[in-house]
Amino acid sequence: MHSQSMKRVVLAGGGHAHLAVLADWARKPLPAARRWLVTSSRYTAYSGMVPGWLAGFYSADDLMIDLAPLAERAGAELVLADVIGLDAEKRKLALSTGETLEFDLLSLATGGETDTSALAVAGQRLLPVRPMCGFIAEWRGRIATDTGSPPQEIVVVGGGAAGVELAFAICVAHRRAAGMGRVSIVTPEERFLAGHDERVQALAKCALLERGITMHFAHAVGTEGGLLLSNGRFLAADCIVAATGSRAPLWLAQSGLACTPEGFVAVGPDMRSTSHDAIFAAGDIIERADRRLERSGVHAVKAGPVLAANLRAALGQGAVQRYKPRRRTLYLLALGDRRAIFSWGPIVGTGRWAWRLKDWIDRSFVRRYTSHGSAAPGATTTRRGKP
Ligand SMILES: Cc1cc2nc3c(=O)[nH]c(=O)nc-3n(C[C@H](O)[C@H](O)[C@H](O)COP(=O)(O)OP(=O)(O)OC[C@H]3O[C@@H](n4cnc5c(N)ncnc54)[C@H](O)[C@@H]3O)c2cc1C
Repeated sequence: MHSQSMKRVVLAGGGHAHLAVLADWARKPLPAARRWLVTSSRYTAYSGMVPGWLAGFYSADDLMIDLAPLAERAGAELVLADVIGLDAEKRKLALSTGETLEFDLLSLATGGETDTSALAVAGQRLLPVRPMCGFIAEWRGRIATDTGSPPQEIVVVGGGAAGVELAFAICVAHRRAAGMGRVSIVTPEERFLAGHDERVQALAKCALLERGITMHFAHAVGTEGGLLLSNGRFLAADCIVAATGSRAPLWLAQSGLACTPEGFVAVGPDMRSTSHDAIFAAGDIIERADRRLERSGVHAVKAGPVLAANLRAALGQGAVQRYKPRRRTLYLLALGDRRAIFSWGPIVGTGRWAWRLKDWIDRSFVRRYTSHGSAAPGATTTRRGKP
């Protein structure tokens, strides 16, 4: 096959949404296509297990997915770099290595960024949860140190599922490492587990109280010594964990792609950009033009197979699919003590059984992408490296 007749297909981002695409390519190579995976880090951390890692139930290996063998089996060239710019018209990606990557088809799933704009003044005390591999490394440095003095006042900012799970897990980790100390969570009350059943919210509040985790229902602004809350209180903090939700990457604004006012890529039900046919997107970076879809790993993961099918369809193989979220989503909120809150539509419960179910689902997911297989013909190895 001459390289001129080969389509150039680029996956940007090696996270939750693209794992199924890589698996699909490994199972059945794409017709007449050269493939690249451009991503910041060789490893992707499975987010659902990060709180369990903090609580000491998992080793870092348990939740890390190595993208190098996955890309190899998919026949994709792994490029370790950040996308820092996109020209949607000219079909070019600008990379942090200074290089430009041209494409015929692009799938964007670089996730969201943690919005720390209101907290930035807190400087070194600030610990954003994204990028997740960075968070894990930084946490190890701050808490799991035998020589230094671990922070005594830890505040989690953000009351979504990630923030609440992190508060429980940090409480366990903190007590193990430092003995005494205080963990608090700050969130506007209306955003505390927003979108979850009221019974889930009540159970979580109860568990936070039981653990001695203080809840502050307010907006927070960073200061040099901690946080200033909208109710006038000052909260001293040695470490501020920012779990403030996803913000769209700023480079999207210059890309020429149709984006929402908040800067997220506008896609249709087929995960294709509403403005550029050659560009697909999924995960935390998108906003559906036809319906509201919360930003969660569940939707990122479930959109993956649709993305895979539609990239094939764009290359003339198979039919276009639409991502239709299920009417009910299963939520399992870890409480940091090998218990979890289960909710599925109107069914809500809590206990060790819910944690065991979560543990089984999460471990099975990671195993699916870490078990070994043979490399696809034509596979290439890592081209450029970041340490
Ligand atoms: C602590 C925590 C716990 C969570 N727990 C859950 C849960 O239990 N259930 C749930 O449904 N959701 C959970 N979430 C949310 C979930 O992690 C996200 O919704 C999901 O990861 C989004 O998937 P994605 O593919 O869009 O992005 P990600 O999975 O974040 O992947 C992005 C990928 O792109 C790479 N990347 C980033 N920027 C660039 C760039 N500029 N150029 C190239 N590559 C780039 C990254 O290295 C990464 O490989 C949690 C989030 C956090 C922070």
